[in-house]
Amino acid sequence: MLNSSLAQLGAALHARKISSVELTQLYLDRIAAHNPSLNAYITTNTETSLAQARQADLLLANGNAKPLTGIPIAQKDIFCAKGWRTTCGSKILENFIAPYDAHVIEQFNNAGAVNLGKTNMDEFAMGSSNETSYFGPVNNPWDSGAVPGGSSGGAACAVAARLCAAATGTDTGGSIRQPAALCGISGLKPTYGVCSRYGMIAFASSLDQAGPMGRSAEDLALLLNVMAGFDERDSTSLQRAKEDYARDLARPLNGLRIGLPKEFFTEGMGSDVAKAVDAAIAEFKKLGATIVDISLPNSRLSVPVYYVLAPAEASSNLSRFDGVRYGYRAQDYADLADMYEKSRAQGFGAEVKRRIMIGTYVLSHGYYDAYYLQAQKLRRLIAQDFADAFKQCDVIMGPTSPSTAFKLGEKGDDPVQMYLSDIYTIAVNLAGLPGMSVPCGFGSGGLPVGLQIIGDYFAEARMLNVAHQYQLSTDHHDRAPKNIGV
Ligand code: GLN
Repeated sequence: MLNSSLAQLGAALHARKISSVELTQLYLDRIAAHNPSLNAYITTNTETSLAQARQADLLLANGNAKPLTGIPIAQKDIFCAKGWRTTCGSKILENFIAPYDAHVIEQFNNAGAVNLGKTNMDEFAMGSSNETSYFGPVNNPWDSGAVPGGSSGGAACAVAARLCAAATGTDTGGSIRQPAALCGISGLKPTYGVCSRYGMIAFASSLDQAGPMGRSAEDLALLLNVMAGFDERDSTSLQRAKEDYARDLARPLNGLRIGLPKEFFTEGMGSDVAKAVDAAIAEFKKLGATIVDISLPNSRLSVPVYYVLAPAEASSNLSRFDGVRYGYRAQDYADLADMYEKSRAQGFGAEVKRRIMIGTYVLSHGYYDAYYLQAQKLRRLIAQDFADAFKQCDVIMGPTSPSTAFKLGEKGDDPVQMYLSDIYTIAVNLAGLPGMSVPCGFGSGGLPVGLQIIGDYFAEARMLNVAHQYQLSTDHHDRAPKNIGV
């Protein structure tokens, strides 16, 4: 069961070979056994999950089941889920019980899926290693001394360690793709606006996007079929006809044009990563693809541009955490201003404070034009590079992350080194494009390497097709870490 695809699990549930209650209990038992060492989940709620599983079993018995009915899914703790503690990895929301469901959660509920628990994450999704979580770091299941990536590190760990059938993540600058790469799983950040941000705790609203994390591209297609959809409560949600993201999976890759940006293939990428990515490109050639050399000249600006824009938006979004309406409030304070100050000083961690300070600075009078406005102009140029590139190719490929999983604590004192671990992923968010990561081999120390596939706007079905065909001819995505009892 633990290595079955979502389609196989669905079939087993439909055929009544296993019940949703049994499947949910199987995962809850695995979480009880492995979460104390991995720390992938912040919250589980056995009774609530099993009650949902019982409902799913009724739907299955009555013939009213949909593809994901009865399947246990782990939800990143950034999504509000009614009645569930929803912390966003922060002390400031340590005891916050969400009074409503995010749109993404609603979509899973309507599909009859089971919420298995809330996964660990960097505080307010700010990080690339899961080390900024108030609830402690997550261990990489491939190497307990290494990070799982971030910010969706708990989700990536849970999928890789078979502590859920699949999971959700969010990606503002790489937080689905980078942990997927470092944990050897598949993850997709859709085109901006495909999944509603309603009820997804805001970090940088013009960049934030939810997406699926799973063991294969085929699984991601089924998940995205559920997650995507118009929602009028998010003003940037796109009103488009519902699509079946699995519709192109079987298409052969003859004639596929793969663009390789010269800026992605430089000495910044570790030699073990380069070797695995090159082997993947060779595999695509065998499958009938042709290679086009392209250039994204402004992509070198993406990290600095992101670290102006994302903190600017974060400083505004996080002003709502003031200790008044919900969340942590300091015990002792002199007056209202002191209460705000102490609640925020005590409730937020160091990285969140750093972002709020940077963001407030770049938005301040006198600096706005020099930083914020300038970054917005460069963002446009970065997006234009992609538009030019997609005149010559169907998808763009390169590494997801410059290295395999690094050691816990290795980059803790150096924020710039940490920020550079998203050097290949951030431009995609700035442009609003879809991007994904699929396992493409193993590097030094036997740690997984991710291949990034970037598509044009709304090319998700084609990207999933490309990834699926690759996964039919390779087995990297089927490998499981040792020591997790599978
Ligand atoms: N690592 C990046 C950051 O720290 C991206 C995070 C994300 O995508 N949520 O902001």
